[in-house]
Formats: sequence, structure tokens, C-alpha cells
Amino acid sequence: MKNVDMLVVGAGIFGLTIAERVANELGKKILVIDKRNHIGGNSYSEIDTETGIECHKYGAHIFHTSNTIVWEYVNRFSKFTNYQHRVYSVHNNEVFSLPINLGTINQFFRANFTPDEAKKLIANQAKDAPEVPKNLKEQGIKLIGQSLFEAFVMNYTAKQWQTSAEELSPDIIKRLPVRYNYNNRYFSDVYEGLPKNGYGRLFKTMLDSGGEKITLRLGTDYFNDNELREFTSGGGLTIFTGPIDQFFDYKYGELSWRSVMFKKETLPIHDFQGCPVMNYADLEQPFTRIIEFKHFHPERTSNGYSKDSRKTVIYKEFSKEWKKGEEPYYPVGTRDDQEKLKKYQQLAKQYPNVVFGGRLGEYAYYDMDVTFLSALTMFKNIVTDWYKKHEN
Ligand code: FAD
Ligand code: UDP
Repeated sequence: MKNVDMLVVGAGIFGLTIAERVANELGKKILVIDKRNHIGGNSYSEIDTETGIECHKYGAHIFHTSNTIVWEYVNRFSKFTNYQHRVYSVHNNEVFSLPINLGTINQFFRANFTPDEAKKLIANQAKDAPEVPKNLKEQGIKLIGQSLFEAFVMNYTAKQWQTSAEELSPDIIKRLPVRYNYNNRYFSDVYEGLPKNGYGRLFKTMLDSGGEKITLRLGTDYFNDNELREFTSGGGLTIFTGPIDQFFDYKYGELSWRSVMFKKETLPIHDFQGCPVMNYADLEQPFTRIIEFKHFHPERTSNGYSKDSRKTVIYKEFSKEWKKGEEPYYPVGTRDDQEKLKKYQQLAKQYPNVVFGGRLGEYAYYDMDVTFLSALTMFKNIVTDWYKKHEN
């Protein structure tokens, strides 16, 4: 570990952002490690060799943000397409548009309500929900009323989380907008798009921008490498983006996660479902959604980017219980988890040379833009200060 000023554990968005900033702003030498054989963490994408279609290895990732600093930052490393995400949901063998909008409401109730009429109806259906919802069920009913909740959220959420909606945080569903107009864009952010040449390329450009100041070591697990751990215990600045409970050897018990499993199918047809993401709201289908990747880049298909337009790649997404050692995807965040997390965060204060960041390090359900912002903020507020203190 000679000539290393900072160790970054995890080459996901959080780790790469800190590494890029520290290399280019502070001129330090950084070692970035990841236990996987690629950079980019869960946001990674790569080209499927058989079809030429770009697949998001860990599930559909759409970049969206209203934060200009984040948008300008990511645009330094890649151009973005003008992709706009739209999602549909199958319920009772019928296709509805999501998020819940006036079109969904009118189709569901077989009506032609005006925005005000629809608002009145939903308010009436939501009248029993408490003013301040304590859990996902109360929040869902407050947002869209009992009938729409039962149709589009209750069973989908049961499949996704396999925890009762009364046990889940209201925040999970708060991120879904409800619209009393016909706007069926999934996100309401100011900026949205996909990296023109893929996430994989974006992350590589970030890393390469650090030149020789950043060294990358893939296939390296922090917990199996004594030299790396000695760097940390010897006081070296360490950015840790793995699970915070694992760092402390699960001293207060495990934080709970949901995992996801993807069943990939390459089909000999031009278009399987006509859109990138189709959700399945009922229990009849065991998967939560199907992703058809070619629809994320229509601009590529039309200019012949896809190798064989007669083929398509779909991922069926299944939610899965998480067990220690498996890939953690979604923090469950029960009350018990929140209490454990507080204890771990308290313990972390005794490690001033370790910055816990990202979705695993902070045990948070962060979108990519929030992860970028969190890393940029920690760089400014913590990492820069750390060097100032240690160089004087
Ligand atoms: P990660 O990407 O998880 O990176 C952490 C890295 O640390 C990993 O590469 C891991 O291998 C490595 N690591 C862990 N432990 C060790 C160890 N012991 N040693 C070495 N390396 C280690 N966000 C959006 O904005 N839009 C979306 O559409 C979207 N869709 C999503 C869909 C799914 C199914 C999921 C689960 C998330 C989605 N997200 C989306 C969120 C997005 O994936 C995260 O914001 C982002 O991946 C967080 O980056 P990170 O660096 O914090 O963590
Ligand atoms: N959700 C739902 N029905 C849907 C889509 C989402 O009930 O058709 C709920 C579900 O609880 C899910 C949450 O809303 O966990 C957030 O969904 P989103 O698609 O934003 O999250 P993602 O799984 O893509 O992170």
C-alpha cells in the first residue's frame, strides 16, 4: 500500500465519484477495489454479445434528476439521450399506464372524470387514511384510495417486499407520483436520459479521467485482504461503500435486505412487449416486472446498432428473500433495522478515517442522482477537510 493516499472500497457510483474528485481536485493517489469483475456497481450495463442490445445487469436503470449540479457533473463524462421513461402495469389481464394518472383512473373506473371529479373520488376513497401515515399501506391509501391501492400496489408490493405493507416505510411509495392529468411520464424530474454509450462507458470515462492517480483492482474483497484492512486500521483514509453492518462484523445483528433475481431470455422476435418496462400487479405472475432492453435505446435500433433486429432480450424480475452472502438490493428498513442502523452509525463515529457512503454504506434506498449528490457532498464536507487537517 505504498503510494496510496486513499482507499475506496467499491467501484459503484459513490466510490467512483469520490475517487474522481480526490484525484482531479486534490491530486491524491487512490486505490479503488471492487469484489466484482467490473466497475459501476449496480448501475453497470454491458452489451449482450449475441444481440448487440445493451442490458442493465442489475435491473433497469434510468437516470433522472432535478439537481443541476449532479446533471452537469454526469454530463462531463457522457452525453445523454432524451429518453423518457414510461411504465405500464398489467392488472386483471388489462394494461394500464403508470404512475396512476387520469388515464389510469378513468380506465379503471370506466369513467370520463375531469381532474376535479377524479380528485374528489380519490379523496373520498382515501378518507379513512390517517393524516400522517405510519406505514406503506396507510401512505398508499392516502395517495390513491382503497381500490387503486388494492389493484396496483397491494399485491405488487407483497411480491416485491414479502413483508406486510403495515411493516414497510411510507417513504417507499412516496416516490411514486399521482397525477390528475394525462401525463404518464414515470419521473417528474427536470433532467432525464440514458448515457448515450451506456453506463459502462460513462463509469470508465470517470475512472480514466483520474489518469495514473487512480489504480483499479477488481475481483478483490476488502474482507479477504489483510493489507487493505491494515491500511484502514493504520489510519489511512478509507471510503467504504460496502454494507455498514458487515464492516462491524454484524456486531448488532444483520440489517435486512431484499434481493432480486433476473431470468434472462433471448427471444427470436422483434418486439416482445412494445415498451421497456411492464409491471405485473397481480399475484398470478410470480415476477414483478419484465424489462425489454432494446426499448431503452430506440435511436440505436433505428440506425442499425442492434446486431439482429429480429431478436430481443428480456429480463423477468423476481424479488427474493436476502440471506447473508447474497447480493443485497433493497434495504427493507423495518423499525428494527432503523434501530440497528443507529447503533452502527454511532460506532462509525469512532472511525474518523472511514467514510461510510452509498446505498450499502448508508443503508439507504438511493437513486443514482442522490448517490452522486451524496458523494459530491461528502467529498466537499468530509474528505477535503480530512486532508486539510492531516496535512497541517
Ligand atoms: P453500488 O452500486 O451497490 O456499489 C457498491 C459496490 O461496492 C459494488 O460494486 C460492490 O461489489 C462493492 N463492494 C461491496 N462490498 C465490497 C467488499 N467487501 N469489497 C469490495 N467491494 C465491495 N437509480 C436510479 O436513479 N434510477 C433507476 O432506474 C434505478 N433503478 C434501480 C433498480 C434496481 C433493481 C435497484 C436495486 C436500484 C436501482 N437504482 C436506480 C438505484 C441505483 O442502483 C443506486 O443508486 C446505485 O447503484 C448506488 O451506487 P453505490 O455506489 O452506492 O452502490
Ligand atoms: N409499486 C407498486 N406497484 C407498481 C410499482 C411500484 O406497488 O406497479 C410500489 C412498490 O412498493 C415499489 C415502490 O412502489 O417498491 C417503488 O417503486 P419503483 O418502481 O419506483 O421502485 P424500483 O423498484 O424501481 O426501485
